[in-house]
Amino acid sequence: MITSSEYKKRLSKMRRNIYIDGKLVDREFKRLEGAVNVLAKTYDMITDPEFKDYQDVLTATSHLTGEKINRFNHIHRSIEDLLTKQKMTRLTSQQVGGCIARCMGIDSTNALSVITYQTDQKYGTEYHKRFEKWLKDFQSNDRTSCCAQTDVKGNRPWRPHEQKDPDLYLRIVEKKSDGIVVRGAKVHNSYAPVVEQINVIPTRALTKEEGDWAVAFTIPADAEGVKQIVSAPMVEYPEGWGAPGPWGGADSLTIFDDVFIPWDHVFLCGETDMGGRLALTFALYHRHSYTGCKPAMTDVLTGATALMAEVNGIEKEHHVNEKLAELICTSELVYGTGIAAAINGYKSPSGTYVPDIMYCNVSRRHAGVNIYHEYDILADIAGGMPATLPRPGDWVNEETKPFIEKYMARNPNVDVKDVLRAFAWVQGLSCSENAGVMQYAGVHGGGSPRMEQIAIMGSYNVENTKNIAKRLAGIKTDKPYTFDRLGNTPKL
Ligand SMILES: Cc1cc2nc3c(=O)[nH]c(=O)nc-3n(C[C@H](O)[C@H](O)[C@H](O)COP(=O)(O)OP(=O)(O)OC[C@H]3O[C@@H](n4cnc5c(N)ncnc54)[C@H](O)[C@@H]3O)c2cc1C
Repeated sequence: MITSSEYKKRLSKMRRNIYIDGKLVDREFKRLEGAVNVLAKTYDMITDPEFKDYQDVLTATSHLTGEKINRFNHIHRSIEDLLTKQKMTRLTSQQVGGCIARCMGIDSTNALSVITYQTDQKYGTEYHKRFEKWLKDFQSNDRTSCCAQTDVKGNRPWRPHEQKDPDLYLRIVEKKSDGIVVRGAKVHNSYAPVVEQINVIPTRALTKEEGDWAVAFTIPADAEGVKQIVSAPMVEYPEGWGAPGPWGGADSLTIFDDVFIPWDHVFLCGETDMGGRLALTFALYHRHSYTGCKPAMTDVLTGATALMAEVNGIEKEHHVNEKLAELICTSELVYGTGIAAAINGYKSPSGTYVPDIMYCNVSRRHAGVNIYHEYDILADIAGGMPATLPRPGDWVNEETKPFIEKYMARNPNVDVKDVLRAFAWVQGLSCSENAGVMQYAGVHGGGSPRMEQIAIMGSYNVENTKNIAKRLAGIKTDKPYTFDRLGNTPKL
């Protein structure tokens, strides 16, 4: 396994294909610092003595090579692996106070592992062999990847083949003896500018005439023809503040301008039914990841709320306790349901374990519908200061410093410098460019609420519950009683 400095060195050698605000920049550009730090943390935690008791959580043994690898590059070989992935996601996300960046990678590789195998079984192709060959190299070199699933999609109600411009969903434009050429764009690609590899998969179910859009592959993030137009929220920390980080995100509109993919890295090419399955399988794994990162995010918001209560001297107030309990109910319900999803997981024909559809989706949905409410709780207890906090320069300017320190004092047990630190951190967490991104991610990341609703309703037998109701109401029904929802969710 490599260190974070080796990871950063690799980034510095990548081809310049990142555009931010009109400039072509390299990966050491200031705005990307927060995102790079998040990825670096996933390397640092492996060797950090503070996390020595979590080695089994943070690392795994590759089923392909028998080598010790970063668990973010692992393929789930058991229920225990699914449980540990969830634990790792919560543990690591807590350290950076938000998204840990590598779930898109682990979720797309696991989905590819399941679907390449099934496609080979059905069509006699050799995608799984290719995928495993690539994965071996990826794991051994301790690389990072993201997932480019979401197409730009044009007019929403139109299918890929109905769009006026067929490139609005990424597609194959040419098949050659040595590979394929693809054109199109993927959007919202989290951490794409700071990883080495992009895994590309379809975004939705595809019809028979949509073979050109049924494509999956992996590609270096700086490959010829790939351009990344990046949005990265600026994370500002006061000089000498002493806090870890800065942590932040970076999302890319990734352009594929007639990009060549060698056959070795093509994992699906025209099999429309499997394209849809791959889209759903990635979404399923990703929603399971949310059952780890969302509780971590709620842990952070719970801690922030408790800290604000302390700073304001209101910790003992009844309403504070009530709101903290509300937050805890959200994190633990989401996490607990994620555990259920893992325990109820199953072995796919490839040997890769898949979590339960119902529990993943209800958990992810519950997290999503609560996200703004959680920020609402924090804002309520914090008061308005995170919105109007004087700038860090004014804390240290000799002329304004005495006034700031006099008038920012609150709870006598909290040093005024810690009052400032607490408010500055909560400002970044809840009232900043980055906070807005996290809120939208909470709603749409892993699929919009509507997508979860479709998955839930597709896996739940409402007729059975109506049958229960009819029997209890004394209404005649021919349907026998079915013992449902005791853990037998249909498999993908
Ligand atoms: C911060 C962030 C990070 C993300 N990271 C990644 C990532 O790393 N990789 C990745 O691939 N994706 C990522 N996503 C994308 C995420 O999965 C999408 O945002 C989500 O699937 C919604 O797609 P959209 O943004 O195009 O919204 P839309 O699909 O346009 O949704 C807007 C509204 O239109 C509705 N709608 C859409 N289509 C239809 C239709 N045909 N009929 C009726 N209603 C419709 C939706 O239900 C929703 O209410 C990320 C998103 C965010 C916000």
